[in-house]
Amino acid sequence: MTSHGTPRDRILTGDTPTGKLHLGHWVGSVKRRVELQDTHDCFFILANMHAFTTRSDQPDEIRADTLEIVRDLLCMGIDPERASIFLQSEVPAIAELTFLFSMLLPFNRVMRNPTLKEEIKVKGLGENYPFGFPLYAVGQTADILAFRPVGVPVGEDQVPHLELTREVARRFNQKYCNVGDKVEDADHVDEGGVFPVPVADVGAVGRLVGIDGANKMSKSLNNAIYISDTAKQVQKKVNKIFTGRQSPTEPGDPDNILMQYCDIFIPDQDRVAELRRKYAAGEDIGDGHIKQELGASINALLEPMRERRLQFEQDSDVIDVLKRGTIEANRVTEETLAMAKEAAGLGFFPRTLDIH
Ligand code: ATP
Ligand code: MG
Repeated sequence: MTSHGTPRDRILTGDTPTGKLHLGHWVGSVKRRVELQDTHDCFFILANMHAFTTRSDQPDEIRADTLEIVRDLLCMGIDPERASIFLQSEVPAIAELTFLFSMLLPFNRVMRNPTLKEEIKVKGLGENYPFGFPLYAVGQTADILAFRPVGVPVGEDQVPHLELTREVARRFNQKYCNVGDKVEDADHVDEGGVFPVPVADVGAVGRLVGIDGANKMSKSLNNAIYISDTAKQVQKKVNKIFTGRQSPTEPGDPDNILMQYCDIFIPDQDRVAELRRKYAAGEDIGDGHIKQELGASINALLEPMRERRLQFEQDSDVIDVLKRGTIEANRVTEETLAMAKEAAGLGFFPRTLDIH
């Protein structure tokens, strides 16, 4: 609610607890989330059920990562007084909508999702992934639509998932709410649809490359600088960035990964322009020197986050944040589920959920 008591537009996004948060999360999504807290009702999901798609044999790690990511979010500036951070596993409407939505998507359509294909490849899942792995793409449409949000702040890799979500919203509204197939996306709710057709809100840097210089920085690929890394660890990782340049007088590629990181993490853009010019000209500027400047800038960004983390050491405090957020998430999603069930002829009697 705003201070005037009118409902605000909602935002839904979140993270899978497959590791800790890294700089890619900051530039791709979390920085934007921090801004949106001022203007929107924000819901941030910990997709702990989806973590089982690739880690069903590691429940303890999933649990530990869930709490650690909440800490990461809090120290990055998510304010639990203004935003709801919640557990997917305790919001049953999401699982129920997943079942309903899975009927709206042809199997082949789900398998055509390029992000799913890419994950199968880079995570080496081969032919042996569980049935639940492709199902998570359907589940993600339910994570999102359960909140009837206007937008979803995400990195570039999530855009195909958003496209699938938009298709589900359209199909549901057309099938069960008499929304015509010529109706514009923006008009679905006005025309009686349960679900808005949400847009992807891609962050300033939609895809930060990892320190391997090859893949997306990813918590599953061992190529990440973590928000919780110490200053020393950060510098060590920055020093590992490989450019192939041999000497300070060799002209460097002004668009290589080191220069991309400088663009993103050194706030003084005049300084970056100067570094780039000297680098391209081979004007006696070594990779080592640039890496020192870059490491210092990243550490300046992370230092206030490190200080804030000290306030959230207790698991019980983190669980309390999750509990409050999950209660709020159930309030909204139970309402959505009731609307969806009513539309699909499944509304027989009301129910209430109780978390205590
Ligand atoms: P996993 O390897 O387990 O998929 P991940 O690092 O991709 O982990 P997710 O939990 O899948 O992290 O993603 C959370 C959010 O952060 C998504 O919106 C995603 O697009 C964004 N994101 C993740 N990595 C990057 C990156 N390197 N650059 C920009 N955005 C990113
Ligand atoms: Mg991912």
